[in-house]
Amino acid sequence: MREINVKRMVVKVGTHTVTRRNGKLDLPQIERVVEQLVSQRMKGMEVILVTSGAIAAGLEVMGMRKRPNDMPTLQAAASIGQVELIHIYSELFGRAGIKVGQILLTQYDIARRQQYLNARNTIGRLLGTGVVPVVNENDTVAVEEIRFGDNDRLAALVAGLVEADLLILLTDTKGLFTADPCRDGQAKLINLVPEIDKKIEELAKGTDKEHATGGMITKIEAARIATSSRVGVVIAHGREKSIIDKIVAGKDVGTYFPPKTKTVGGRKRWIAFGTYPAGKLFIDKGAKEALIHHGKSLLPAGIVGCEGDFRAGDIVEIFDEEGQLIARGLSNYSSDETIRIKGTRSSEAARILGESSCREAIHRDYMVIMRR
Ligand code: GLU
Repeated sequence: MREINVKRMVVKVGTHTVTRRNGKLDLPQIERVVEQLVSQRMKGMEVILVTSGAIAAGLEVMGMRKRPNDMPTLQAAASIGQVELIHIYSELFGRAGIKVGQILLTQYDIARRQQYLNARNTIGRLLGTGVVPVVNENDTVAVEEIRFGDNDRLAALVAGLVEADLLILLTDTKGLFTADPCRDGQAKLINLVPEIDKKIEELAKGTDKEHATGGMITKIEAARIATSSRVGVVIAHGREKSIIDKIVAGKDVGTYFPPKTKTVGGRKRWIAFGTYPAGKLFIDKGAKEALIHHGKSLLPAGIVGCEGDFRAGDIVEIFDEEGQLIARGLSNYSSDETIRIKGTRSSEAARILGESSCREAIHRDYMVIMRR
């Protein structure tokens, strides 16, 4: 048995959990998921559902058997399918007298601090009034390069945003295995992952299935985000009987990632995971040492290179000279300014940009070390 005490949880169902093999929505399966959520809600649990299936539902309505590759058609399908999907959830929860609220988010909404906080307030208010928020990516406007895809990261960010106790990622495998269970008969389910290390990352293999995006890699990434936000994570099979009830009861099903007790604050979490970087800085050995081992800010003198077109206040990634990611932070300078002052002492940088400019390229309080 696991010691988990859950009052607020995010449950994510991927496309494979809500569709049949032929890609069509699996209504009895959706009904079984909702029944479990209703029963948890009735016991006083606060529930947020993150659901995929809009594209699949839309393709069904459009009579398309194969998933197309072009974005406008996928977005049109999502637009049509989201109506279907929310209608189904509204109807199913409605049978138990529970109302649902639709939340559609893109990376942009999470990346902008104000919108991030707005989303948090809205979801908080919905929960406070007993409503089940039903979240999906806003596929109709999401730009291809920064799409969440199959919602694993989105669900993790939402779980952190609302300070949930548990994130349940329901999928089409029983969890993370020691090897690919389809190819290796000896493969064993990993019940507990106390730490997401290199070995765990290597076990996670991406999937490439016709009707969805995502796989174990995105689930492990989601687990990393959520556990860093003090949210425990369980990856489990969405079609196993009473799976949500079993997880909440602490039964040893699926793969469990306990929440980290030592975590960074909300702002740093947002810098680390919530945003997408607008540019890259490359730093020398001395600066790397100062950042990683001495908790220092990044000064212009340590910057050896700059890529991308960013403004002051944008989030940038910091790499060492070998190209290894070191940190993320909020840049005090634009890319143009950075190019002008890189490698200079702070006094020289102040002369170039004016005395009122910031001394640090990235202040420590607005920086997160990503790898040690
Ligand atoms: N948000 C998408 C959906 O609901 C994700 C799944 C996909 O890319 O197929 O359909």
